[in-house]
Amino acid sequence: MPQTAKNENIEKGNMQKQPSENVKNTEKKQKRNYPFFAIENPIEENRIPVFIKTMEAVLKDDKYRLLLDLYLNTCASCNSCADQCHLYQTTHEEKDLPAYRSNMLRAVYRKYFTTSGKLLGGFVGAKALKEDDIDNMIESFYRCTMCRRCAVECPMGVDNALITRIGRCVIGELNLAPKNFTVSSYQQLYGVGNTSSIPKEAFIDTLDFLQDEIKDMTGHSVEFPRDKVGAEYLFIAPVSDYIMEADTLMGTAMTLQAAGADWTIGTGYYDAINYGLFYSDTVTADALNKLLAEAYRLKVKKILIGECGHATKTAKLFVDVFGKHQFPIQNVMEYTAEAIKKGRVKLNPEVNQETVTYHDPCNLGRGLGIYEPPRNIVKAAVKHFVELQPNREKNYCCGGGGGSVTVPDMYNFRMNLAGIKKVEQIKASGAKYLAAPCANCKKQLKELVEYHKLPVTVVGVHDLLIRALLM
Ligand code: SF4
Ligand code: SF4
Repeated sequence: MPQTAKNENIEKGNMQKQPSENVKNTEKKQKRNYPFFAIENPIEENRIPVFIKTMEAVLKDDKYRLLLDLYLNTCASCNSCADQCHLYQTTHEEKDLPAYRSNMLRAVYRKYFTTSGKLLGGFVGAKALKEDDIDNMIESFYRCTMCRRCAVECPMGVDNALITRIGRCVIGELNLAPKNFTVSSYQQLYGVGNTSSIPKEAFIDTLDFLQDEIKDMTGHSVEFPRDKVGAEYLFIAPVSDYIMEADTLMGTAMTLQAAGADWTIGTGYYDAINYGLFYSDTVTADALNKLLAEAYRLKVKKILIGECGHATKTAKLFVDVFGKHQFPIQNVMEYTAEAIKKGRVKLNPEVNQETVTYHDPCNLGRGLGIYEPPRNIVKAAVKHFVELQPNREKNYCCGGGGGSVTVPDMYNFRMNLAGIKKVEQIKASGAKYLAAPCANCKKQLKELVEYHKLPVTVVGVHDLLIRALLM
């Protein structure tokens, strides 16, 4: 995020206020009705000039301006992207056309930031911004799950998900992002230190509890090492996994111990979630800097991210954009697949007889090209594996991407519109287990399974290793 916009925003008090103050202010000031999701302390006055000023600040980042210029000039309006979009294929509504959505931002860009737009206006697709346009953009940019399936097939190489993100960044700097993002990010950056507000003592208790659980379940003594200075790997997962995905973390700890990894968890910072990916460069940078600070504090050599897709993508792709560091970054599934390949981890697939399929999270698959390591782990751990169709770069989003899974107000949208293509895929697979490594995907898929009464159980990848590992 350009420093100017960040500072202006902080001066406005948007990120710095206590949530309790924000709630009071929201009650006092909020006049508009935002139907898609709740917003904490939204800007209500002078939205048009503030939007344009904020967009100008965001575009001071040259890469955004270059991309908008490029996409502005290359989009052929062929709408091939519509055939790829899981949402448009379900709703067939104009507002869900990828190019239509991108044109909302492009029209503003043309009007206020290009010479031709200033001179020729509507003749070159420029359009003066109106109040309704801002509301329409809020809804439209959050209906897009930023899955990038449309980008894979665009003949001109346009990435509509990236345009969505630029739009969300402008909206986010105006304090018009979902309340769940802003409140959780506030807690992570300025409050308790993580998005679930779990105090350090409770986190340490959870690690002890997981160690006991593994002992009870398997008879093995497995450690969750913590604050080990000089370890090879700092392991960090979304903090919500410690509450909601205990099996994934237990399977991960068992695997790392079986492989002989030299690893540690940091109790100074233990949340790999980075909501900045979905709405704010400022938050992206600040959360990454907290991660790097923990790695420097513990003098580790590498950073190992849990199974989560958005956490891995943010750390791998953005960390160099916002600051220099010395740490190679790996997803834990890349580590485990390599350990299996080299014979450091041995598995018995006979213990997992049911048919298992695998969901490619958008951020791990299309975002990072991590397609084979998770498959190689699952195939080594189970007797029967089937692919979802389509898969890999053509896989459909779970329907909760772009952070929408954390927004309770979007539940019906996710269950009845954004997730429908995924439901069709799961039904067609006939699998009894659906392995999904990303925390966001797992939450959405579990909700879809329950809502649509699908005969399948959603698990993480390392969950399958708990019984299959030969310790
Ligand atoms: S974004 Fe690509 S696929 Fe979509 S309308 Fe433009 S050129 Fe066609
Ligand atoms: S990124 Fe995904 S949800 Fe958004 S327009 Fe493209 S295909 Fe549709």
